[in-house]
Amino acid sequence: MTLLDPEFGEIIVRKNTLSRAIKFSISTSGRLAVSVPSSTPNFLIKRFVNTSREQIRTKLPLKNPETQRARDTKKKLLTKKARAYLPYRLDFWAKKYSYSYTTLRLSHAQTRWGSRSSSGTISLNIGLMNLPEQLRDYVILHELAHINHMNHSAAFWSELAAHDPNYKRHRKALKMFTPGV
Ligand SMILES: [Zn+2]
Repeated sequence: MTLLDPEFGEIIVRKNTLSRAIKFSISTSGRLAVSVPSSTPNFLIKRFVNTSREQIRTKLPLKNPETQRARDTKKKLLTKKARAYLPYRLDFWAKKYSYSYTTLRLSHAQTRWGSRSSSGTISLNIGLMNLPEQLRDYVILHELAHINHMNHSAAFWSELAAHDPNYKRHRKALKMFTPGV
């Protein structure tokens, strides 16, 4: 059986005599599947989907074309902003503190703000453009400090502290944001 949801599209409903509570999962085809105790009426399933919307969104690859389009537009805009800003900002800090890196790659990763590879490439997430400037700079300085320290050793943090004295506060504040567009 399936139910139609305006945001998630077709929802696969699996009635299961063994299940005690309503649970959602993502099917192999990428669709939302809800497993429910056999006797569950549809309105309860819909209510469950409505109250779990936020949680489902983080797990589900988007199917709704309009939401997908809006997201694509947002991503394009953010990439444009990032291209016009991040290379210069990275260059500014690198020059100021005499760091050298090979290339900058703009990333769209869902969970990482930035990274630095052993080959010298620095990746910065386009989502940085949604952050306050101090946090953006924190990420940039963090990745630059990785040029001298490939780990998060005490030496790494003390080098970062020299360039960003408030790094502890910035690191904590950054946890309130997620990079995914
Ligand atoms: Zn790091």
